[in-house]
Amino acid sequence: AKAAGGNRYELADADSDARVIARHSLTNRLPAALDNSEFFIEYQPLVGLADGAVRGAEALVRWLHPVHGVLGPDQFIPLAESTGLIVPLGRWVLEESLRQARAWWQEGSGQAPMRVNVNLSPSQLRYPSLVADTVAVLENAGLAPSALCLEVTENALIGADEEELRPLRELADMGVDIALDDFGTGYSNLSYLRRLPVSTLKLDRSFTRGMQRAPADPVDVKIVEGIVSLAHTLDLSVTVEGVETGTQAEHLRILGCDTAQGWYYARPGPPERLRMLSLVDAAS
Ligand code: C2E
Ligand code: CA
Ligand code: CA
Ligand code: CA
Repeated sequence: AKAAGGNRYELADADSDARVIARHSLTNRLPAALDNSEFFIEYQPLVGLADGAVRGAEALVRWLHPVHGVLGPDQFIPLAESTGLIVPLGRWVLEESLRQARAWWQEGSGQAPMRVNVNLSPSQLRYPSLVADTVAVLENAGLAPSALCLEVTENALIGADEEELRPLRELADMGVDIALDDFGTGYSNLSYLRRLPVSTLKLDRSFTRGMQRAPADPVDVKIVEGIVSLAHTLDLSVTVEGVETGTQAEHLRILGCDTAQGWYYARPGPPERLRMLSLVDAAS
C-alpha cells in the first residue's frame, strides 16, 4: 500500500502483491497482529435510494501490516478463515463496530442508532456460541439487536439445513437483521430463499455494472427487475453494492431497489467521515 494524500491510502492490489507476500508468513503473523491491534475498520455508508439518507454503514476490516502497509480483507480473511483465527478476529470486528455505532449514537441528537452491517464468515456461522456471543456484544454496547445487520454470503448458506440455520434464525427472531451477501453469485434456488431467515438481499455488483453509463444493458435491467420483484414478493429489501455512478444509482432507484452502497456515495473510510456524512444528512 502506498500513501495517496491526506490519510488516504490504496489497498495493495490483491492480485499482484498477494502473490509476492508469502502467504505463510502472513498466516503466522495473524495472531500477533490481533494482539498488537494491527487491524482497523473502515465504514462505508448505505444510502436509501428513495431519499438519499444514510441508513447505516458496513464495517470492512483492514490490516495495517508493519512491513507491507495496509492489506485488504481479500488478502487475509481467507487465511484467517483457514486457521480459525477468523473467530476471534470476527468477534473483534463485531465488538469494535458496535462500540463505534454506540459512539455515533451518543454524538447524534437523539436519533435512532446508526445500523452497522458486519460480515460473518462461514466458520463464525458454525461456531457454537455465535448467538450468545452476539447477544453479549450487543448488551455490552448498550444497543438493541436492530442496530446490527449480519451479512452472510449466499455460498455460506447453500445446502444448510434447518439445524444449521437455527443460530441465524434465533438472531433474526431477536431483531438482528440478516442480509444475504453477494446475492446472485451462488446457485441457491429460489424456493430455498424462502426458507432462509434473511430480511435483505445484497445484490452482487456484477449485475449492475452494465448500468454505469447510459444506455443501460437491457439484460441487466431485466435481471434486476426480476430480482427486485421476487425480493419484494418475499418481503425482502434489496441493497445494491458497487454503485459507482449517478446514472447507475438513478437506474436502480427507478427499478425499485431500496438501498445502495458504493463509491458514488462514499468509499469506505474512517468513522469520523461517516459521522460527518450522516450529520450533514440529518441537517438537510
Ligand atoms: P463484500 O462484503 O462484498 O464488501 C464489499 C466490497 O466492495 C468491499 O471490498 C468494498 O470496499 C468494495 N466496494 C464498495 N463500493 C464499491 C464500488 O463502488 N466499486 C467497487 N469496485 N468496489 C466497491 P473490501 O473492503 O476489499 O472487502 C472485500 C471482502 O472482504 C468483503 O466483500 C467481505 O466479503 C470481506 N470482509 C471485509 N470485512 C470483513 C470482516 O470483518 N469479516 C469477514 N468475514 N469478511 C470481511
Ligand atoms: Ca458484505
Ligand atoms: Ca457483497
Ligand atoms: Ca463481494
